[in-house]
Amino acid sequence: MNTQVVIIPVTLIIVLQRLGYQVMSGGVQCHSECYNGRVTMSVNITWPFTRLCGLQEPASVFFSLLNLLAHVVNVRRFRLSVPPSAPLYWLWCTHAVVCINAWIWSVVFHARDTPTTEKLDYFCAFSMVLFSLIALIVRMLGRRYGYLRQLVCMGGITFFIFHVWYLTKARFDYGYNMKVNVCVGIINGCGWVAWCIPRIHTRSYVRWCGYTVLAAMVTMLLEVMDFPPLLWTLDAHALWHLSTAPLPFMWYRFLESDCLYLLQQSSRPDYKKHI
Ligand SMILES: [Zn+2]
Repeated sequence: MNTQVVIIPVTLIIVLQRLGYQVMSGGVQCHSECYNGRVTMSVNITWPFTRLCGLQEPASVFFSLLNLLAHVVNVRRFRLSVPPSAPLYWLWCTHAVVCINAWIWSVVFHARDTPTTEKLDYFCAFSMVLFSLIALIVRMLGRRYGYLRQLVCMGGITFFIFHVWYLTKARFDYGYNMKVNVCVGIINGCGWVAWCIPRIHTRSYVRWCGYTVLAAMVTMLLEVMDFPPLLWTLDAHALWHLSTAPLPFMWYRFLESDCLYLLQQSSRPDYKKHI
């Protein structure tokens, strides 16, 4: 009975919205061809959204703001609990700046979708994933191989510049952008899981890293889904942004504990064996 009470109105809303969509736009369009569309994993439909105070996608704006606030709150807590002398302190502060910047552009893009704001949203979102992969390699290397760490950072920056140049020199290549994001995202996720597994039994805080990566992978399901926005507002992409907002709370918990662990270990003569 209760299930029916929920399912029937939702189904009606979806059907009405589909009808409304067909009346308004008269057909199905490919996202990569749409000015106001969004590229997802497959050929999708561009759904109409209800504007609120001039915002094109108010739900995505609000949920992007939640992600932005989550990083601001957590990096503040990180800076209060971890001394700047701790290993990787500045790496994770830079990571926070990269993430905050990306979420600012996500807010801007969903508020006003133009070719420029769309590109900035894509590039900054990619900068978060790429930075996380570089940070993983830096974390794995520890204090060893300083030249290799610098080489990895330079390689990452060079690749990011190439990526932006390639996507801005001509027509935006949505297929290439998606492939690069998926590849870097999978390597990043698998890399962090592989780093967690041998350490999780000896350092309990490492589980927060594992939880964050697994939760991020699960939330990606929403990004590959597509359905008409409920109440002309809540589409799969907006819900994806909502689902990622709690992740920084787990992630920074891991970062804080890891930096304090490294700080504690750094005074030991056999430090290199315990990173
Ligand atoms: Zn978005």
